[in-house]
Amino acid sequence: MASNNIFRVGELEAKTGEKTKGHIESIELSDGSRVRVPVIIANGTKPGPTVFLGAGAHGDEINGIRAVIEAMAGLDPGTLSGRVVGVPVQNPLTYLRRERLVTLNQLDEQNMHRVFPGSRTGDVAHRTAHLILEDIVARAECDMVVDYHTGATGSYCPPHSFVSTIGNADVVERSVAAAAAFNAGICIYAGGSAGVYALGNMLHMVAVERGIPAFGCELGTAVPPDLRQSRVGVDGALRLLAHMGMIDATGREPEADIIVDGIADVRASAGGVCEYLVQPGDRLKCGQPLARILNVFGEVRSIPVSPVDGYLVTRAFYGALNEGERLARIGYRA
Ligand SMILES: [Zn+2]
Repeated sequence: MASNNIFRVGELEAKTGEKTKGHIESIELSDGSRVRVPVIIANGTKPGPTVFLGAGAHGDEINGIRAVIEAMAGLDPGTLSGRVVGVPVQNPLTYLRRERLVTLNQLDEQNMHRVFPGSRTGDVAHRTAHLILEDIVARAECDMVVDYHTGATGSYCPPHSFVSTIGNADVVERSVAAAAAFNAGICIYAGGSAGVYALGNMLHMVAVERGIPAFGCELGTAVPPDLRQSRVGVDGALRLLAHMGMIDATGREPEADIIVDGIADVRASAGGVCEYLVQPGDRLKCGQPLARILNVFGEVRSIPVSPVDGYLVTRAFYGALNEGERLARIGYRA
């Protein structure tokens, strides 16, 4: 909240030209301790927009967490126009347990990325989502939301971004322009045939619904962490801030994103060990073999092919699949 040039988020305060770090307290645990959400705020010396950089809604997705840590560490509030809020670990319980879901019990919602806007009186995932959206994004009056992820543990992807094409045309247009400036390599226009990236309770969807431009990104795979993938997220944040007039231009821009607006999932038609013939990010031709599935006796059971011309945006990470498991997710122009 702006007041006398002091930027306040929760108990944190940053004067003009300052960067402050600390925690915002969240739910109380059974042992009496409290979950604390780490927050870094940077208050520029000149007026400008406020940007939210969040990661770790899924706590095992370290590449996104590292990207937000390093983007915030590298920011100089002395040369910044506007304000930036960094939340490297939005969901600390999953970070501590090195997992994607809140598995405190089997009764409540477990995937915080599916419960926005959350609720102050709901279960743990809902309360955490509510804290992120209301106590941080709304309280800080953010003008842009970026939600960092990686592919889930067990999936393997190239860096890519996803942006909603559903909602107010102006907000969608500004979200798309922001994702283009971020430039992760492949951008999924989510909605229509790519609806899996546009589920109603994801943070970027709820933000757009509230009139705040937003997009998300996936920085490679969750395990093992890869600093090259984090770097894509740091460079993307810098390009976004430059696009919004908050810092000077970062220099040479990479080639424009490859745009896809359709998603085709290919599932294993037989169980067995899986020998991939394609890599994350590969350009694929319709009918191109994706993998060979061999049974435990070494016999080829299946050679699944791409159903479309497109790009491999996710494949399984493990070398063995059960029948019905997703083997590949392909982005294409619908
Ligand atoms: Zn995630």
